[in-house]
This record gives sequence, C-alpha cells and structure tokens, in this order.
Amino acid sequence: MAVCVHAHCYQPPREDPATGEVPAEETAAPFHDWNARITEECYRPLAAARITDDGAASEEVVNLYGLLDFNVAPTLGLWLDRFAPDVAAAMASGDRSSCERFGGHGGAISHPWVHAILPLTSVRDRTTLVRWGIAEFEHRFGRRPEGMWLPETAIDAATLETLAAHGISFTIVAPHQVATTDGSPRPVDEPLSIRLASGRSISVFVYDGALAHGVAFGGLLADGERLAAEIVGGAEEGHGRLRSFATDAETFGHHHVFGEMGLAWALRRVEATGHEVVPYAAWLARVGPGTRGAVVDGTSWSCAHGLERWRSDCGCRAGFGSDPDQHWRTPLREAIDWTVERFAELTDEHAGTSLVDAWMARDAWVDVLTGRRSMADWVDEQVRSGGESDRAVAWMEAHRHLLMAQSSCAWFFDDADGHETRIGMRWARSAIDRLRDLTGIDLSPGWEERIAPMWSGETVSPRRPSGSS
Ligand SMILES: [Zn+2]
Repeated sequence: MAVCVHAHCYQPPREDPATGEVPAEETAAPFHDWNARITEECYRPLAAARITDDGAASEEVVNLYGLLDFNVAPTLGLWLDRFAPDVAAAMASGDRSSCERFGGHGGAISHPWVHAILPLTSVRDRTTLVRWGIAEFEHRFGRRPEGMWLPETAIDAATLETLAAHGISFTIVAPHQVATTDGSPRPVDEPLSIRLASGRSISVFVYDGALAHGVAFGGLLADGERLAAEIVGGAEEGHGRLRSFATDAETFGHHHVFGEMGLAWALRRVEATGHEVVPYAAWLARVGPGTRGAVVDGTSWSCAHGLERWRSDCGCRAGFGSDPDQHWRTPLREAIDWTVERFAELTDEHAGTSLVDAWMARDAWVDVLTGRRSMADWVDEQVRSGGESDRAVAWMEAHRHLLMAQSSCAWFFDDADGHETRIGMRWARSAIDRLRDLTGIDLSPGWEERIAPMWSGETVSPRRPSGSS
C-alpha cells in the first residue's frame, strides 16, 4: 500500500498595502504577528521534526517537507523568503528530495497567487491567479508544477478548465465533492479522471475524510503509534492501494502542539512496516489518470452548503465570534464583485494610454513580483511607446491589491469586524485609492454604500449564485 499526506500551508496577506510590511498583531504575542508565530509553531518544526523512541539514545531529525505532499500559498511563501528563509529553503529541498526519489514527481504542488474561492472569481482574475501561482511555483521550486491546490478545495467545471488549460494535471478534493458516472461507490484509493467540456481532462484525488477528520479533530496526532495503525489498518480493512488525507499544515504544531512529531513518527512507522509514503504526482505517474468520474460543481471542503460560506449567512461559522449571524458576507461579496467589474471596465477605458495590453501586462507582472525578470524588461515589453512607466506600474499594483482583497478568509470567520475581514477590506480600499489616482474616478462612494449593510443588523437575503463568470 502507498500513503500520501497532503499539507496546505497558508497565511493571508497580512501586509499593510501602503508599506508592504506586516503591522504588529497583538493577539499573536509574544510574536510580532501571526505569520511569525505560526512559523515558529508549525512551518519550522515541520522542517526538523524529531523522532524519539522511549529509552533510545539517539533521535532522528526529519525534514517532513521531503515526505509530505504539500502546497505553499504565495502570500505565505513570499513572507517566508524574507523572514524565515531557512524554512523556505527546507520546503524547496524537501521537494527536491522527493523529486529525486520519484523520478521528478515531487511532493510540492502549486497554489493560486491568492487564496480566493476560484469558482467565485471573474474569469480574468481566475486566469491571472492561476498563472501567477504557477509562475511563483516555478520560481520557488525550479520546475513546472503538476498539481494545484484549490483554496478551500472550492471546485467547479470552469475552474478545472482553467487549471487544465494551464497544464495542471491534478487537484485534491474531499469525498463529497465527486461522483462516479455509473453510480458506483466513489473510490478513495485512486484518482478520478474528469473529462471537461473543452475535451481536456484533469484528475482529482479524493482524500480519506475520516482519516483527515481524525487527524485534525480526533486527537490522532497525540499518538504516532495510533496514527500509523489507523493509516495502515485502513488498508487491511480493504481501503485499497493508496491511502491519503489532506489537512491544513497548521494542524501540525500550531493547532496540535508537537503534532509534527506524531506525524513524523507515524510516517516512519508506516515505512518500517513495508508501506510506501508517496507524493500524489508520483502515484498519478504510476497508475495513470484514473477511472472516469465527475465533480459536484460549487462544492468545497469547509462549507456543507457549497460555496455559501463566502457569500451568505449559511450557518457555517468558526464559533468564537460575537456577531449573532453572518449576513454581512453577502454585502461584502457584492461590494467586491462590483469593484472587480468596475475595475475591469475602467482598465479597458483608461489603461491603454500606458500599456499595450493591460491584461497581458498583468499576467506578465508576476515575473517582476518574483524577481524572475527585471522591471526594465517588463517595461520594454508592456509599456506603450510614449507611455509613462510609473503609471504602468501603478496599474499593476492597483490590480494586485484588488486580487489580494479576494482572499477567502475575509468571509470565513464570524464577525464583520474580524481581523481577516479587515485585512481584505484594507486591500480593497487601497486598490480603489490607486485606481482613483490613475483615472480620477473614485469608486469609494459605491464601495462604502455597498458595504454599509454589513453593520446594519438586518438580515440580507442571500443572492443566488450568478455562476462562475
Ligand atoms: Zn456553509
């Protein structure tokens, strides 16, 4: 049997848009901010997890990034580059080591530039987020990504089309997100091949929901022996050839102290009992794209109602907020959607004096953001002759800020005034300010009018989904 454990490493864009620096976050004390705190509690311990046997004289220290399947959201990766370069390097070397063991199929998979619910974004923004995510992955890991993590595993056919069109061959979903075409039970031990309307195909891996739940909430990490037994025991009960689960990386060490030690112990135990720990990409290369299946459009791993958690008061909540309901999610989603739409119109109307093609320029901007190309090269290629390069750059920054504003955590928690919600709104207001400087057109009144109901106390009836485009 083979075992695959996927860890999703993510933090929101905590930077102040004006300065690019993360302001002090008092709740993260004694650390400066939550990025620093969770790095210390989780991302760094995962790079050097200790495996100790009671009574043994020696202990092994293992870089779990070389055993795990994992993704690193660019908003976190770029922060690690600056403030914890040793951790970023351990992630890259972990991927290199799994590439070496599995014929180039490493454990790292890509992540869109921003942790946005891709089925709820505009087609243009979704495309840019995927392209920027792939470019950032190439920069970080020095190879093309084979898989891409979808934030909140939020999925629909249009999103899968975008991934497939960009050469992504698989993603990962929860069990309730797939169906087989002939009504047979949904396999959790092999990939499913999804045939798309374009004629392209993409595979999805379905992780074991019970195992993921046991690790995140059932105390399995407290006892590496028990975790190993659960993983391997499942196979003996007929779970088949691949046993996998996916969870937030923060589960290991942040939510569960020393969780990385329990995980490391369990994976070594799994290997010692003759099983293999593999990346999804290596398994896909070995078994092929899988049997034909279908995804359930508009579903995610963290909202039982589909995608409602990111646009309405569906009842999903974290449970530690003070707002009695989450009706504020609808006006916030509508305000963002309206801003995105107006941004696109104003870009088409105004950016042409600076840029040859604003949308192509935007897709290429990621190379400047990651340092893969120089600003001068980008200007040469994208700025219209006679156009001002400062203005061209200001257009890119305005767009980047509006992409940041679409981070899903703005809607995820309970309170309209919650920390993550304020982070998202800070990016949106910054984008609007930059657009005003560029065009003289101020979207602030429209924005403020649309978000005002967030604090009205009235329940806003949920807008029905308008689809993904
Ligand atoms: Zn929900």
